[in-house]
Amino acid sequence: MKALKERIKKDGRCFPGGILKVDNFINHQMDPILMKSMAVEFVRRFASTQIDKVITVEASGIAPAIMVGYLLELPVVFAKKSKPSTLENMLVTEVYSFTKNRTYTVCVSKDYLQPGDRVLFIDDFLANGNAGKGIMDLVEQAGAELVGMGFLIEKAFQEGGEVLRKAGIHVESLAIIESLEDCQIKFKE
Ligand code: 5GP
Repeated sequence: MKALKERIKKDGRCFPGGILKVDNFINHQMDPILMKSMAVEFVRRFASTQIDKVITVEASGIAPAIMVGYLLELPVVFAKKSKPSTLENMLVTEVYSFTKNRTYTVCVSKDYLQPGDRVLFIDDFLANGNAGKGIMDLVEQAGAELVGMGFLIEKAFQEGGEVLRKAGIHVESLAIIESLEDCQIKFKE
């Protein structure tokens, strides 16, 4: 997606360890106009997919997910990054965060992820695919169906994209970064 790539070139900042900061327009300050255009692009790419619900993980997935849900007029549920006080009625999994170098618990209520739900996962970044794998686990526990995953930015030099696609998931990423070596942002064409 051209507009996103242009914005990454203009405002993205590289950090050691293959981290791209997009705090100017996605992760801290947000650009709702660009966010809307990205959601429109997801809607186009998943046009032939039957979706009942959009799911994401708090916090940075919520903005793109709610834009997609708004356009599709579907509910949006976010997996919470907290240990529930009671496990009753909760689906729980563990996700390793490579940016924070720790594992955290994510959970979603069985009221909002139900058997038969056709679920689209939306998130800001795809790196090693750990958030995606966590969502796959929650969806499986619920007896729901994962119909696709959409990411604003995929870092192709990390394994997530390959792992998720090999698992048969329909993965769409709006900007794919091939390399951040020497802090040069190189896109996959
Ligand atoms: P994964 O779960 O695919 O291993 O990593 C994706 C998650 O880690 C995203 O939800 C995102 O919050 C965070 N993340 C991974 N890589 C980056 C990055 O380069 N920049 C930022 N801002 N977040 C990242």
